[in-house]
Amino acid sequence: MKILVVGSVAYDAVETPAGKRDSQLGGSASYFSTAASYFADVGLIGVVGDDFDPADRAMLDDLGIDTSGLIEAEGKTFRWVGTYTDDINTAVTLDTQLNVFAEFEPALSNEHASAPYLFLANIDPNLQLKVLGSMNSRPKMVACDTMNLWIDIARPALVDLVGRVDTLLINEGEAKQLTGLEHLPDAAKAITDMGPSSVVIKRGEYGVALFGPDFSFAAPAYPISRVIDPTGAGDSFAAGFMGYIASVDRFDEEALRTAAVAGSTMASFAVEDFGLDRTRTLTQSDIKTRFDAFVDLTRFNPLS
Ligand code: AMP
Repeated sequence: MKILVVGSVAYDAVETPAGKRDSQLGGSASYFSTAASYFADVGLIGVVGDDFDPADRAMLDDLGIDTSGLIEAEGKTFRWVGTYTDDINTAVTLDTQLNVFAEFEPALSNEHASAPYLFLANIDPNLQLKVLGSMNSRPKMVACDTMNLWIDIARPALVDLVGRVDTLLINEGEAKQLTGLEHLPDAAKAITDMGPSSVVIKRGEYGVALFGPDFSFAAPAYPISRVIDPTGAGDSFAAGFMGYIASVDRFDEEALRTAAVAGSTMASFAVEDFGLDRTRTLTQSDIKTRFDAFVDLTRFNPLS
């Protein structure tokens, strides 16, 4: 197994300008593992309730994802209710029900604990720390994501976690909230001062900014005229980013730059339909064509 991910597996109720879904498979780990499955072998650590539809597990299994670490507990699956009103780039959370996640104690098999790449997808940072602490040895690369809720209610654990990862992926608004700094380069510097050697700041339809140890890079978002459902775009970005790195087994500057475009590629698919509907039906050829469109979109010559 190349990449291990821990995060939420959820039933989401979402409303976007394009429509409404009452209960669709979502969660940070579902989005991540689905999109990352096109790049590398992925194992998923998480918990669902006894209401979890076996067809949803089968969908993940059919993509080759190792779901042996996705345990079923008595109770209800994590539920998130969100909407996108004025700003399609920013989800407004209407309700979060942790349900079975409130009592979840992750247990890793030896194979899970030996994964060389670890992605700590958005979930309680105490749980992210537990999974990191359960690895047999320090993975080659550890990245994590988070959100405003955890900055608000679990800041000390989050700061501890950020100090132990190689890369933090975070939304622009959350980077400002975490650091108290308004300007992106200042916020990025404050984050790398906390520990990570690189930080990726996600800016929705404006793309991403990557700040490395001694370089920075920006990738646009793919221009999509009709975003159907932006839910999961951040996790899908992380999946393309980590998936590419795991597939080339390198995380030097060139690899990180390409990874940011692979991430943008996967995020661009995620928003084209509700939930996982677009991402779960991709082909390698779809991904290559969209990646090449990014190469074209960002191609220019130096001044002569
Ligand atoms: P994003 O990639 O940021 O759009 O992530 C969307 C997913 O995050 C949704 O499918 C939600 O189920 C999940 N989510 C929302 N709030 C939380 C939370 N507090 N912890 C973990 N996952 C969450």
